[in-house]
Amino acid sequence: MDFELPEDVAAVRKKARDFALREFTPEVASMYDREETYPDDIRRKAFSEGFLDMSNPWGMLVAMEEFCRVDAGLGLSAIVPAFGSEVVMLFGNEEQKKKYLDPVLRGEKISGFAITDSGAGSDVAGISATLQKNGDGSYSLNGQKTFITNGAIADHFYLLARSSPAPADKRHRGLTMVIVESKMPGFTAAQLKGKLGMRATNTAELNFSNVRIPAENVIGEEGRAFYYVMTFFNISRIYVAAQALGIAQGAFDRLRAYLQSVKGRSDISRWESTQFLVAEVASRIEAARLLTYRAASHLFKFNPDPVSTSIAKYYAAETATYAVTRILEFMGADGITGDLERFYRDSKIMEIWEGTSEVEKLIIARMLEEKEEGK
Ligand SMILES: Cc1cc2nc3c(=O)[nH]c(=O)nc-3n(C[C@H](O)[C@H](O)[C@H](O)COP(=O)(O)OP(=O)(O)OC[C@H]3O[C@@H](n4cnc5c(N)ncnc54)[C@H](O)[C@@H]3O)c2cc1C
Repeated sequence: MDFELPEDVAAVRKKARDFALREFTPEVASMYDREETYPDDIRRKAFSEGFLDMSNPWGMLVAMEEFCRVDAGLGLSAIVPAFGSEVVMLFGNEEQKKKYLDPVLRGEKISGFAITDSGAGSDVAGISATLQKNGDGSYSLNGQKTFITNGAIADHFYLLARSSPAPADKRHRGLTMVIVESKMPGFTAAQLKGKLGMRATNTAELNFSNVRIPAENVIGEEGRAFYYVMTFFNISRIYVAAQALGIAQGAFDRLRAYLQSVKGRSDISRWESTQFLVAEVASRIEAARLLTYRAASHLFKFNPDPVSTSIAKYYAAETATYAVTRILEFMGADGITGDLERFYRDSKIMEIWEGTSEVEKLIIARMLEEKEEGK
């Protein structure tokens, strides 16, 4: 068992840290947060430096962590242009990969992943967007999606809709994933402003009114997409764990810098309560990192373990809010005026997207029970 990162991954980590410190200055981060605009210039620079390299998942994971350590909104915006791409990689056909995936991987286009409806977030099978089959084999898409990352900037979306009714006890059936281009007639998007955090990321509400989806835009098999979405979450939750880990580490960095800055003026760093805070936060970050890397090592060896993934996502997200909240409280007025207040707002979202903490706990408990029963 080796707990050290391989040299090439450590090199990406260092490069990502240098990039984030250089590009995500406090002024730049604060400006994008205040103005709620998408940092396309930063996305382009990150792309040209090779950080969006899906053939190097460990590199992307540590880059995500290091980016979010400096600023989560900018960090995510730099890596998320390919959001949802794993679905077409795993379940799409060669034509779909060529038409939709390749331009994203070349940095020319942006994708999004649209699951959440206004009436169904955690309850994926409860979505109400519909796909109606037409006589020529195409589909008519109707409905609405909300809180969609890249919603107002993406060129296309991997979207989940109901294509046939399903019995109440098998609601996960009859769901289909299609590729929707933002230029298709009947599609509109409206950016959602005023989010608590992650304000540099673009989030939008999408509306679909009789959008014609050609048959060749169906991903995989019609009616099987619930399985594709769950497979995707088993990947994306590991990256959310890395975001959360970065936020927790970034807050801890600021605590260390703060203690350094008051040295000489105050003996606060020698107080037992301060040392307890340092030790408690550092221990949780270390645990979150080990859990995240363990879940990632299963996944990147093509042997995903949903229990490890949910444990990592749940624990890292809670570690982010724990670390930021405790450090902000400790720093008092200094905590609520510097960039830690942005960390405080960003951290909460880690407990919500890609599966809330409650959802992760339900998955962990249910899957552990199934394992015990040998299912
Ligand atoms: C900034 C941002 C970006 C997002 N980007 C995307 C995106 O790109 N694509 C996309 O599809 N979605 C996106 N989402 C949506 C996100 O995935 C949902 O918000 C999330 O799944 C939770 O759904 P919900 O908000 O509808 O909350 P709900 O599901 O309504 O949950 C509300 C509360 O009830 C709890 N709860 C729900 N079910 C249970 C249960 N069975 N048992 C116990 N408690 C339960 C939850 O934990 C939560 O506390 C984004 C959200 C945010 C905030």
